[in-house]
Amino acid sequence: MTGQSAIRYRIAPKDPGAHLLEVSCEVPDPDPDGQTLSLPAWIPGSYLIRDFARHIVTLHARAGDRAVPVAKLDKQTWRCNPCPGPLTVEYEVYARDPSIRAAYLDTTRGFFNGTSVFVKVHGRETRPCVLDIEPPSHPDARRWRVATAMQPGGAAPWSFGRYRAGDYEELLDHPVEMGAFDIATFEACGVPHDVVVSGRHRADLERVCSDLETLCRQHIRFFGEPAPMARYVFLVRAVGEGYGGLEHRASCALLCPRKSLVRGAGPAMSKEYRGFLALCSHEYFHTWNVKRIRPRAFVPFDLSREVHTTLLWVFEGITSYYDDLALVRTGLVDAPSYLELLARVATRVWRNPGRRRQSVAESSFDAWTKFYREDENAPNAVVSYYAKGALIGLALDLSIRRGSGGRHSLDDVMRALWGRYGEGSDGLPEAGMAALIEEVTGLDLGSLLEQAVHGTEDLPLAGLLAHFGVAFELRAAQSQEDKGGPLPPDTPPAQARGALGVILGGAGTEARVAIVLDGGAAQAAGLAPDDVVVAVDGLRATRSDLEELVAGYPPGAQVPVHVFRGDELMRFDLTLGAAPQDTVMLTALEDVDSEVAARRDAWLKGL
Ligand code: ZN
Repeated sequence: MTGQSAIRYRIAPKDPGAHLLEVSCEVPDPDPDGQTLSLPAWIPGSYLIRDFARHIVTLHARAGDRAVPVAKLDKQTWRCNPCPGPLTVEYEVYARDPSIRAAYLDTTRGFFNGTSVFVKVHGRETRPCVLDIEPPSHPDARRWRVATAMQPGGAAPWSFGRYRAGDYEELLDHPVEMGAFDIATFEACGVPHDVVVSGRHRADLERVCSDLETLCRQHIRFFGEPAPMARYVFLVRAVGEGYGGLEHRASCALLCPRKSLVRGAGPAMSKEYRGFLALCSHEYFHTWNVKRIRPRAFVPFDLSREVHTTLLWVFEGITSYYDDLALVRTGLVDAPSYLELLARVATRVWRNPGRRRQSVAESSFDAWTKFYREDENAPNAVVSYYAKGALIGLALDLSIRRGSGGRHSLDDVMRALWGRYGEGSDGLPEAGMAALIEEVTGLDLGSLLEQAVHGTEDLPLAGLLAHFGVAFELRAAQSQEDKGGPLPPDTPPAQARGALGVILGGAGTEARVAIVLDGGAAQAAGLAPDDVVVAVDGLRATRSDLEELVAGYPPGAQVPVHVFRGDELMRFDLTLGAAPQDTVMLTALEDVDSEVAARRDAWLKGL
């Protein structure tokens, strides 16, 4: 037997009613001293220990017909010993995670990521892998097909059968959808792209393909042809409520509200559809930025435990900057819409007192225990490396454009990043960005970067944007639903309004406090998360009218508030605060000279 015989995996949606996937792994030449196997604890792109092995229900090993003893070494590792000959490990995986990060199976569909179902054969990670995906026997599943960007190894298109991967990491990086889904296809820069939609939907797939083609072409040309993948698949799951995406090397798995797949009537694009395109844009940009350009800490991935990097502001933040920017650069949205999107990102940062306490480098490093494990104190303690990272991308782009007189931009830095730290490299070092920026642009932005990435001061966006003919203004939120951007034209002039300093959560009519914001009236008086506000100044309060009720009082007013904490009624005397100026508006200025207008144009058009 040669050293390169393949590891053979088999997966069968055997018992969809019980949500059980039956999996086997055959190792032709196991370590004769005992073969170690393990399942990942996390999935790349989502920085949380998920302990996928907890869903393994039973696991057995055999050599031929002979049972091989299996010892469990820790929560996710097994050792088969002795291993006299070819080893087969068979196990069942409970699959009922409706997100895109794990595995799911019922009688209507199946979905899995390799990280949830395929054990690693220690010492054999670089071996080629063969995967047989077996069809379900359940009568409801006769029309099922298979969608994945994994290379076929004999399977016909969209069919059950044999697939293959160059090594274990590649096997893990191709999620698989099984079910009766819809398929649409387009080509971008010569690369075939498929859009697979599962779940009930009324998507205009022709329109979706046409818009995605525009977007994908933009991103491929941004980094330079040829594209690094031979084929690409968007695996879209349409649901009533839910939102998320996970990037892979030649595909992405998306979860989106079904209403976001409809463009909306008339020439204007619905906000929901714009959100869907931005999500696609984000995951597609990752095909380069994080799937192939990686932090050095991720080369190679250690999926057995947390891996820390301060660089997620580059990989998630700069990706978030370009996901929306690509929409305006391609003309899919107009400049005012883009500035609204950007204002909403900025609002997410300005609204959280946590930005004064945590830097994006810290947020990235501690993503595992903070950003991905948000609790009621998160807005007071955590800054988003997505949202603030996107604003750092903006600040860098505008600073480079201004400093180089328009000769350079962040685009050049990203292309250099791709050239230097792309496929096959050993990854971007933790302190690599400042040096690369200087090398590409000749500008020393070290102090801006230091303040932006490691500091907690607000970014100097107002001055930078003004140079490009855009006004940055802060205003008070109109309501909890106000996510930033311009006010509707019929908004009455602002008056000073009282504010409790809480964010409501939960469902129904109950005014349940989800978050008590740092420095607000509620915190000073002693209100706590989970308190249910029942009366303000002696009048009944519900979720829908609490904000309005409070806004009727001026800042500084003394107002008694009754709440239930558990089953105990309590009274707190609040001195109302003023609604904070934490909502960002960005406006393209009309009276600017031609030089400023040209600069703004170059930025928004990617010139
Ligand atoms: Zn992302």
